[in-house]
Amino acid sequence: MSQLPYFLAIVFLLLAAWFAWRYLILKRKLNQLTRSIRDPKTSQPQANEIDGLISAIEFRRTAFSAELATLRTETERLATLLEQLTDGVLIADADGRVQFANPAAGKLFGTDHLIHQSVAQVVRNHQLIEAWRRCQQTRLLQIEVVEIPLRKQYLQLIVIPDEHEGGSLLLAQDLTQVRKLETVRRDFISNVSHELRTPLASLKALTETLQSGALADPDAGPRFLERIHTEVDALTQMTQELLDLSRIESGQVQLNFEAIAPRKLIHSAADRMKAQAERANLILDVKVDDGLPNIHADKNRLEQVLVNLIHNSVKFTKPGGRISLGAEAVPGGVRCAVRDTGVGIPSESLTRIFERFYRVDSSRTGSGTGLGLSISRHIVEAHGGKIWAESEEGRGSVFYFELPIK
Ligand code: ADP
Repeated sequence: MSQLPYFLAIVFLLLAAWFAWRYLILKRKLNQLTRSIRDPKTSQPQANEIDGLISAIEFRRTAFSAELATLRTETERLATLLEQLTDGVLIADADGRVQFANPAAGKLFGTDHLIHQSVAQVVRNHQLIEAWRRCQQTRLLQIEVVEIPLRKQYLQLIVIPDEHEGGSLLLAQDLTQVRKLETVRRDFISNVSHELRTPLASLKALTETLQSGALADPDAGPRFLERIHTEVDALTQMTQELLDLSRIESGQVQLNFEAIAPRKLIHSAADRMKAQAERANLILDVKVDDGLPNIHADKNRLEQVLVNLIHNSVKFTKPGGRISLGAEAVPGGVRCAVRDTGVGIPSESLTRIFERFYRVDSSRTGSGTGLGLSISRHIVEAHGGKIWAESEEGRGSVFYFELPIK
């Protein structure tokens, strides 16, 4: 019996030792945990381990929130970028199912339902599907350009392997505009050569005729010389117009803006063209609304536009016809019009006549180069305005251009 207190004391000591040992282990672990999550640079020494741990967790929580906010901003930025991108972006998984598509992809492939569709269903073109397949098999980047005749579109597809998911990233670009520009450039060169060949050939023929005896002929000699003169004039006009066009197009022409009264501008152009209209037996009249605001324009250049338009009306209106010049106020600007009772322009040519070298029917235009309207369009657009034509074949045409008032 007398040994019981000793026994209890030993048990108590053992229990105390066990608790102390557990406490020490816990303390060491808490220290380890605190050390692993706290920032050594900013953490302050704490009174005890629990406070230390709480402040370390608090620090991490703040840091996580800041990182999350940065991540969110970057995700939003990326989403806006993908939303606004004019190139189509598709992400497909390893089975070829679309997992992501931006709005441009929908527009380029002409469908709104892209997600969970197969790449084949979306791109619907044999060559493009093959490019994607090759990328899946070889895990190498593939580039394919195709023409889609139905939509009159040139598409370039770049397929990039996605290393993490075994899928692919598809980047679609619309090359239609680039191709169009290439065609315009090619056509331009061939048009210029063609336009130069005709007058040069007739100059050669005329000089050869003169050399082979016509020079001595008092009748034919002056006639041939006169024709040479006309051809040289046409060539000079064409080279001048080409030069003008290229300088305006490349922005080399400095416009001298000043405030001009529309009435003054139109009368000045009409005065220059009056004699020509009379020679062609045409009536040229002017009707300008009163109280029009001044326009902010380069007088010489705009007069050149009006002269081009009147000159065309003279060329394409039969004797006895009428050419009317006018100007009126429209919201935000002034609209000028050159109206004639001439041969008119077929509706399918109405937008094309502003292209370089375009002529409705080259046989009826005589000496025209097809550059005048193109130059006029560039001048009007350089003033922030627009130019267009309305016409009824056999009844006449109206050419309008509108300029903003500053
Ligand atoms: P061109 O030197 O041939 O007149 P333009 O660029 O000025 O070149 O005109 C292009 C074409 O537009 C002309 O060849 C003609 O077919 C058509 N056109 C322009 N103005 C008129 C008009 N007033 N009436 C009928 N056709 C016109």
